[in-house]
Amino acid sequence: MKIHPHTLPHGMALLQNPLLNKGTAFTEMERDVLGLRGLLPPHVQTQDEQVARFLENMRRLPDPIDKFMALSGLHDRNEALFFRVVCDNLDEIMPLIYTPTVGLACQRFGHIFQRHRGMFISIHDRGRVADILKNWPNKADIIVVTDGERILGLGDLGANGMGIPVGKLSLYTACAGIDPAICLPVTLDVGTNNETLLADPYYVGLRRRRVTGAAYDELVDEFITAAREVFPNVIIQFEDFANHNAFRLLEKYRDKICTFNDDIQGTAAVALAAVLSALRVKGTQLADEKFLFLGAGEAATGIADLLVAAMVAQGVAPELARQRCWLVDSKGLVVASRTGLAQQKLPYAHPHPEVASFQGALHALQPTAIIGVAAVGGAFTTEVLQAMAALNAQPIVFALSNPTSKAECTAEEAYQATEGRALFACGSPFAPVQYNGTTLVPRQGNNSYIFPGLGLGAIACGARHITDEMFLAAAQTLAAYVTPEDLQQGSLLPPLTSVREVSVHIAVAVAEVIFERGLATRSRPESLLDLVRGHVYDPRYTSYV
Ligand code: NAD
Repeated sequence: MKIHPHTLPHGMALLQNPLLNKGTAFTEMERDVLGLRGLLPPHVQTQDEQVARFLENMRRLPDPIDKFMALSGLHDRNEALFFRVVCDNLDEIMPLIYTPTVGLACQRFGHIFQRHRGMFISIHDRGRVADILKNWPNKADIIVVTDGERILGLGDLGANGMGIPVGKLSLYTACAGIDPAICLPVTLDVGTNNETLLADPYYVGLRRRRVTGAAYDELVDEFITAAREVFPNVIIQFEDFANHNAFRLLEKYRDKICTFNDDIQGTAAVALAAVLSALRVKGTQLADEKFLFLGAGEAATGIADLLVAAMVAQGVAPELARQRCWLVDSKGLVVASRTGLAQQKLPYAHPHPEVASFQGALHALQPTAIIGVAAVGGAFTTEVLQAMAALNAQPIVFALSNPTSKAECTAEEAYQATEGRALFACGSPFAPVQYNGTTLVPRQGNNSYIFPGLGLGAIACGARHITDEMFLAAAQTLAAYVTPEDLQQGSLLPPLTSVREVSVHIAVAVAEVIFERGLATRSRPESLLDLVRGHVYDPRYTSYV
């Protein structure tokens, strides 16, 4: 799309607008028409040259956090160039703008702060949230919001959690081509219980302990109402809320607004895709499998719920489908006789004698699949893995906890202990493993395979709600991109380099569900693929004159 020069800011204002700036790549004619003559060095560079120069400088930096800061600086100056760098070097850059580096960046947020990005809404802003949102200069079609209480596996980082919505929205653009101009990162600052931050003179948030109860709920509610008033049809993605709020808020809002929780639902879809690949290798159906989860939190119950939804879609009775899933939490096997269980665990609290340990549960239940999502590093011991190998010709072993130190086992350990028979997926990246002359290539169950494409589909249709059926469609589409060659080398997911293409097709599958269920606010076009592709942002520069 060509932007008319009259609608553009001119001169310094143009150079200082990161959504429009091209820096040294403004052409001779653009420099004349847009009042840039003299403000830039004479030689006109191509975007490719700018990318090469940036990478050369960034790669010289010693630490990931320095690279993170260099990338943030570029993001703040020139978004198109930032996204060219990211899109063309996804494998290298993704760990720098998201996990694991973003965790450290959040911990040190106040110390490395360079420039404002996104919006901070604090507990003191109750009663004026809509007015505050009107300060945002662009329209917003997608908001990622956190309250900073459970940032990755790092706990309460308060307002420093802003690194997460910023990073996540960068992935929306990098992985699915969602226009950065319609993305709004938001942090709700309700205080922090992190004593280190409260004592840190550079901490960016309110110096007070967390507000809870009615006052907290009122702020969230006002924010949701205001966001929908100021940005009609906006998708609101909850991110890194603590367990006790995440499930509650999702239940409260999922049928009222267009929202989802990636920690629960996005994780579920990527895990389901990997399970579907494992079934292709084994030649089994979902209901033939018995899943034992280590962990019973957002990831575990999200995955279990979607596995059940997938089985039900295949005609399995819901009760039977739920019986294929078992959870172990910090108190042992989740069974019907346990009291005080959280709401989300109840569907999986089956009648069974109490079992204190994961290993005990494994021996008692004899699962075909174990899925680690408890952030207990090394929990899949050689003994556990060998027990799975003794029970199953092709044991499904997913070690999904992050970061790497929390992984239940490494890829090497999984393959060694199971004589190379494990059907393995991981939460953190692991290098290929040589086993008996074969190279096994474990792939990461990265949520970035799912949420960007899902968001793209929802934006393209102006979806009213986001449903489990859409996550199911996303998972099935992702699984369909796993080739026989991938399976041959033990990869249960496609390479991350294919994510932009996969995202487009996930968006189409999601759009199909949205129109089918009457959840679109736009009329159905002839081609959903054209509709989706029409919403894809391309970071290559276009001419302004
Ligand atoms: P959560 O806090 O909601 O749940 C953690 C669960 O682990 C709780 O049910 C807790 O009872 C259980 N637990 C803790 N200690 C335990 C122990 N010793 N034995 C058994 N269970 C124990 O957290 P979450 O959002 O579900 O995330 C869990 C892990 O999964 C994290 O490491 C996270 O990084 C990872 N994760 C990975 C992906 C992915 O790979 N795509 C996505 C989401 C989450």
